[in-house]
Amino acid sequence: MKKLDYHLHSYFSADSEENPRNHVLEAIEHGLEEICFTEHRDFYFPEIDFSLNVAKYFREINRLQVEFKDKITIKIGLEMGIDLRFKSEISEFINSASFDFVIASVHEIDDIEVYDGTDFYLNKSKEEAQKEYLLACLEVVQNFELYNSFGHLDYVARYGAYADKSINFVDFEVILLEILRNLASKGKALEVNTRLFSESKTQQFYSDLLINFKKLGGEFVTLGTDSHVAKRDWAAIDNAREIIKKAGFKELATFSKMKVK
Ligand SMILES: [Zn+2]
Ligand SMILES: [Zn+2]
Repeated sequence: MKKLDYHLHSYFSADSEENPRNHVLEAIEHGLEEICFTEHRDFYFPEIDFSLNVAKYFREINRLQVEFKDKITIKIGLEMGIDLRFKSEISEFINSASFDFVIASVHEIDDIEVYDGTDFYLNKSKEEAQKEYLLACLEVVQNFELYNSFGHLDYVARYGAYADKSINFVDFEVILLEILRNLASKGKALEVNTRLFSESKTQQFYSDLLINFKKLGGEFVTLGTDSHVAKRDWAAIDNAREIIKKAGFKELATFSKMKVK
């Protein structure tokens, strides 16, 4: 199974200050064969301007691809925040450049950011907040096709003022199976996002997702740390690889110009 990281952010994303070169050096030092930058673009995001200077992004990563071509494969990707109200702008943006790989992610719902300190979790039990998030993800996978992998299904478990933020597969089995069925039947990849992998409940959640994705005929899995800095939890990648293998996936999916390799 390839050693790679298919979800990382540098200073081309509004919420990262990391130099992409540092990501490359760190990845080489840890023996990765391939990385894919997946910078943020979210249309009309509340509070923060998540625009992306595409020309500058391509120029700089293209230079790194040349400089490190004998050491590591570097891909140019995108993490697209999906809000179906802006479907046409989103599609136009994705088609405007030759991205290697596109992650579809839900970061806000009806102009409310799914994040700490926002109104999203206000007056909601953890289960209500998680259900609302997953239903928004389901709507996206049912109505949007222009992407390769669906990002961080456990995103909602990162935030909210709950003593135990974790998410359980069995609590949302019907919705999650429907999401996985859509991804599998449309040839989309499921992302294993290692951001919360230090918690065993996260590992269990992804293990349940992967086993069911395989049963439903899912073929492609991508793996990413979602790291906004070069230093990261490398053990999480190894743990994730084991869970992916155990679920019956022999290889991680990689992409060029949005086509699976
Ligand atoms: Zn994200
Ligand atoms: Zn991300």
